[in-house]
Amino acid sequence: MSLGALYQQQQFGSYIDGAFLIHKSQPLLSLVSPVTQKPWKELSLASTALTNQAIQAAHTALPIWKSVPAPQRGKILRQIGNLLIENKTIFAECMAMEMGKPIQEGAKEIDYSAGYFFWFAGEAERLYGKIVPASIPEKQLMVIHEPVGVCGIITPWNFPLAMGARKISAALAAGCTIVAKPSPECPITMCLFAQVCQEALLPKGVFNMVMGPEKEIGQAILSAPEVRKISFTGSCDVGRYLYKESAPTLKKLTLELGGQAPLIVFDDADLNKAISGTLTAKFRNNGQTCIAANRALIQKSIYPAYIAGLKAAVEKLVVGSPLEAKTEISNILHPLSTARVKEHVRDAINKGAEVILQGKKPYHPTLLTHITQKMRIFHEETFGPVLGITVFDSDEEGFALANDCEYGLAAYAFTSNLKRSRDCMQRLEYGIIGINDGLPSTPQASFGGLKNSGFGREGGPSAIQEYLVEKYISIAF
Ligand code: NAD
Repeated sequence: MSLGALYQQQQFGSYIDGAFLIHKSQPLLSLVSPVTQKPWKELSLASTALTNQAIQAAHTALPIWKSVPAPQRGKILRQIGNLLIENKTIFAECMAMEMGKPIQEGAKEIDYSAGYFFWFAGEAERLYGKIVPASIPEKQLMVIHEPVGVCGIITPWNFPLAMGARKISAALAAGCTIVAKPSPECPITMCLFAQVCQEALLPKGVFNMVMGPEKEIGQAILSAPEVRKISFTGSCDVGRYLYKESAPTLKKLTLELGGQAPLIVFDDADLNKAISGTLTAKFRNNGQTCIAANRALIQKSIYPAYIAGLKAAVEKLVVGSPLEAKTEISNILHPLSTARVKEHVRDAINKGAEVILQGKKPYHPTLLTHITQKMRIFHEETFGPVLGITVFDSDEEGFALANDCEYGLAAYAFTSNLKRSRDCMQRLEYGIIGINDGLPSTPQASFGGLKNSGFGREGGPSAIQEYLVEKYISIAF
């Protein structure tokens, strides 16, 4: 079946051992599109038994997939990347219908996702071991790498494909097999991805996907000894829960959790770059990104020009239906984001914030100034199109404000000064730092956080290690 034909189907179910499973004897769950507010697709939900079936399929496929020569695995990964790009418009429309992402952003998400498959196709070919110098001539020592095993991959709704793609590409390159659990809100994109895997001739059982109740599926994945690794992207609370519950089976973990990015504009910054960087860092995906800037820290002398320029630029953003090509800001905001936007704006205004720009609806971009450390927006991830802005005097004060945060995912700084740039690299306590760059994430560089933003890296040369184990070999002659 073509991807287009699959997308037109009404009923969807889990993908296990190379087949979509729809249990017509059980009631199907109606999935309502936030765009139309009408039932859109019907879902056949997985139980514990079906999740265990997926784990067993992945376990059975593991020796087959890990023995496929790495360059051959790389070829299949490249084919997955090519098919994603070929089917970009279908994926973009699906994501718009599932979670309200503008189709122009959805298309970029597909390019970004395909980029991870291309990058890790190359990494598969570079899975080198090590020869270790022995202290006596009668020994040969070496280290080899092997796939960690079956991986449980759990992803959020805000990037229905990309958050999975960053993990799946690395896991497949390493020779691991997968049981993926997409967000209950966005399972259709992952079904389309499963079809892409089939078309790319990925052997059956290597990629499996279960959709259904998160606690039940989560528990089956957590308790299975065959699952050796969990890679999770989502909220800190769920991340902590998975960390704790993985202890009995000592699984390896990658946790990509929340953020609360500061964006510093120093007085020597190129104002145009700072403003366009702010638009990207804040308003991409309507502020619903883990690396979204939530607090703009502006040095005093550049503050009036920055505010005037930013306000004018934000007013030009096209707000509308996610299905329209020209839409930059979707008129669909996740209900949890809507609630947090309202609460953070209310809290900030009550505590003295000044409104520079505010639309009629929570999805309209909002700019608040006079933000202080007493306000929730300073410390909590809003995950919506609101930017809190504050002024600082000395660089010292700017860095102190930026680092006053329990999270450590991303930070942005705008400056034309080399020394300040180096200070930013050294002093900002964040895993990703964009200097004059509002969009630093790319497949060939590592993505991941410090502090409460979690641990582990996705993308870049070190990320494949997350899906490998080392074996040390000593041969005595
Ligand atoms: P969430 O934590 O509510 O859900 C994420 C996933 O975990 C979903 O698939 C959900 O069904 C699953 N889940 C929830 N409870 C579970 C349980 N008991 N067992 C197993 N799985 C369970 O997060 P969300 O609301 O979908 O996403 C938003 C959050 O994700 C934000 O905090 C955002 O910052 C974060 N995020 C982080 C990154 C990153 O790379 N660091 C990227 C995107 C989003």
